[in-house]
Amino acid sequence: MSSARHSDVLILGAGPAGCAAAYDLAAAGLSVRLLDKHEFPRPKPCAGGLTMRTVSALRYSITPVIERVADDWMLGLGMNEATRMGAWPAKPMPIVAMTVRSRLDAYCLEQTKAAAGVTFERNGKVRELARLGSEGGSEGGANEGWSLRTEDAHYTARYFIGADGANGVSAKLLGRAAGHHARDSFAAAVEAEVPIDDPLRFAMEMRLDYVPRGYAWIFPKGDHLNVGIYARGSVKGLKASLVEFVRARLDQTLETRDIVGWRVPVSGQDRAPRTDGAFLVGDAGGLAEPMFGEGIFYAIASGQAAAQTIAEVEAGRSAAAMASRFARLRAPIDRDLRAWTSFAEILDRNPARVHWALSLGSVRWGVMKSTMIGWTLTETLWRLFLLPVARMPRATRARLPALERGP
Ligand SMILES: Cc1cc2nc3c(=O)[nH]c(=O)nc-3n(C[C@H](O)[C@H](O)[C@H](O)COP(=O)(O)OP(=O)(O)OC[C@H]3O[C@@H](n4cnc5c(N)ncnc54)[C@H](O)[C@@H]3O)c2cc1C
Repeated sequence: MSSARHSDVLILGAGPAGCAAAYDLAAAGLSVRLLDKHEFPRPKPCAGGLTMRTVSALRYSITPVIERVADDWMLGLGMNEATRMGAWPAKPMPIVAMTVRSRLDAYCLEQTKAAAGVTFERNGKVRELARLGSEGGSEGGANEGWSLRTEDAHYTARYFIGADGANGVSAKLLGRAAGHHARDSFAAAVEAEVPIDDPLRFAMEMRLDYVPRGYAWIFPKGDHLNVGIYARGSVKGLKASLVEFVRARLDQTLETRDIVGWRVPVSGQDRAPRTDGAFLVGDAGGLAEPMFGEGIFYAIASGQAAAQTIAEVEAGRSAAAMASRFARLRAPIDRDLRAWTSFAEILDRNPARVHWALSLGSVRWGVMKSTMIGWTLTETLWRLFLLPVARMPRATRARLPALERGP
């Protein structure tokens, strides 16, 4: 094996979390090696719905890969008639940018590679991750850097960021697998594409309680509908439920083999950050939202928090305070995920009442408006009284293509 390839920061995984971290680290003048086991574009099971807070968290516009902007939302309970969330006031409110994940991620990787200092490489099978000057990646002590060995290369860096998603190796190699299989630490989602002549006929649609502790969705894209089911409870039979949903709602036949599924890790907010120059971000850190399974925003935000922590230490902040600084930067994410967890529990206990409450005119308007402005759940709860006068940030609006009205 040839000599180690060294960089300031080594990032495993070039999805939203890894790219967000790499982009900011490069902007701070650090050398970054970004590894992924795939060439891009690569498939990633995902509905590709980006809330406005996600659009605004990114450091660049993603207009070229936005297929459509949803400005309405049909919210149903099971297969009952759905409530039109954007019905009042009539002015369209952009709430979700619809993308196709493989295209979105390839685009973000291109933007990240263009940032000075980011070297992207496809890596072979990961064999070992260890702290330099210690064995086995145990925690504690000063940060001397990290070593990652794959089947065909050896990398070293002062900092390591694990951004390799729900099924990656970082969390396990860093000894964080414990608790990963605890009850409720993972949700699951299955999805498929349904080609359709005129997807604009459809609004974004979610059907609460379509499966126990979960919902079914329809996300209209440029030339197809993305359909899926998310569940916090049992994952058994999700594919069969999706086939049935597509038959009942769209009168179409979906083959089980065309459905893909993936885990959604939802309990990372309860794990303390490490103290030794290694960071777990995005799905690798368990940071997806448990009620609807939104993960891209939290992946980007946690990647950026890790990048800021490292940049500050490199600029002279005490390395001993690294974990507490990361914890502080991650605190808004953790708080938000805890709030979503509480809401999800309320929804699980009484889906009919939650659906009724969400159907009330002022609640509907509040949900649509705060989603459009890009506030997180906790920001919305804290700033509720400002909602009537708050506006969507101009910078976010400028990043959206012109609205094509749905039905
Ligand atoms: C069916 C489904 C639908 C979803 N829909 C939405 C949605 O509409 N909106 C939303 O916000 N969230 C959604 N999510 C959640 C969202 O997809 C994830 O939370 C998000 O992708 C997390 O980003 P990440 O960068 O942490 O991980 P990922 O996007 O999984 O990226 C991880 C990267 O690491 C790479 N990798 C893995 N292992 C290795 C390895 N050993 N070596 C090197 N590289 C490796 C992978 O190739 C990948 O590129 C959905 C999830 C599912 C399952």
